[in-house]
Amino acid sequence: MFDLDKVVRKNIKTLKPYSCARDEYKGKEAIFMDANENPYDTGFNRYPDPLQSELKEKIAQLKNVHPNQIFLGNGSDEAIDLMFRAFCEPRIDNAITIHPSYGMYPVCADINDVEMRKVLLNEDFSLNTKSIFSSVDKNTKLIFICSPNNPTANYFPDDVVLDVVKNFDGIVIVDEAYIDFSDKAGLLSCLNEYPNLVIFQTFSKAWGMAGIRLGIAFAHPAIVNILNKIKYPYNVNVNTQTIALEALKDLSQKDMWVKMILAQKKFLIEELLKISFVKKIFPSDANFFLAQVDEPKAIYEFLVEKKIILRDRSNLELLENCLRITVGTEEENIELLNALKIFKS
Ligand SMILES: *Cc1c(COP(=O)(O)O)cnc(C)c1O
Repeated sequence: MFDLDKVVRKNIKTLKPYSCARDEYKGKEAIFMDANENPYDTGFNRYPDPLQSELKEKIAQLKNVHPNQIFLGNGSDEAIDLMFRAFCEPRIDNAITIHPSYGMYPVCADINDVEMRKVLLNEDFSLNTKSIFSSVDKNTKLIFICSPNNPTANYFPDDVVLDVVKNFDGIVIVDEAYIDFSDKAGLLSCLNEYPNLVIFQTFSKAWGMAGIRLGIAFAHPAIVNILNKIKYPYNVNVNTQTIALEALKDLSQKDMWVKMILAQKKFLIEELLKISFVKKIFPSDANFFLAQVDEPKAIYEFLVEKKIILRDRSNLELLENCLRITVGTEEENIELLNALKIFKS
């Protein structure tokens, strides 16, 4: 059913990629007179490894995949953009995203002049697979499913997502940016079975490294090759690779943060529910949740005055009166609760 050759754009298929000077030599010890760099050691005078081999080796071990199933990008944002550039012919092809979901999917579609079809979730935020399938036509190349979904925070059951993967001729991207906060494992263990499945993860959330910009796409090696072919040669800089390698040496720090954030999420939700104008907190598999309140805009603005910034999502379909709250540190959560207690009193 799935034929990558039919999904990839013609110009990308025939593209002869830029070959960087360092492609030919993999070792570290050599006299490098090939790339017009400054020879004096600043720590940064050399270009980074364009294929981030060492980092991929470590991530592969951690995630139990092969390094050739890993693409690394300047944040997941780069991977999102590259999916359009690799697979969607501007003004001809289209992509599908669930809605409401992550805002970068439609923005990247717009930038690439690709039609984005938004498929509304059901009222209970479950996946409307019927509506997804009826939105597919012969020019649909990509389907984006964020799970746990931003901003609704729920995880979609594996069998429901895999039903889409199995019954679609194009590529399904499952964005697992928040998977570390969920008690579900995610779909990585199924990667080998589905040549059209791409899974995004990131160092920006549980790993505490939004600032270094490192996103991961796991996929069949044929898809990874295409992304590698069209990315900027040195898309992941030296600092980012070094810092990520350091973080990967000790997983206990990340695990500890996840534990603390989940404990704080429980505390924050319990306390918020005691406040009269908080009507509902939606279930969350992530480090954030939706709170349905009276007067979301007034609360949002009141909190901005107090230098506490939430995300007002109340204008989105299905999210009437909803604020999205990211779990903070214990002190930050208490400040939020104290501020809310004096709202309008
Ligand atoms: C935060 C987030 C990301 C992370 O993007 P980066 O570019 O890796 O920082 C990806 N997907 C979703 C849905 C997110 O909310």
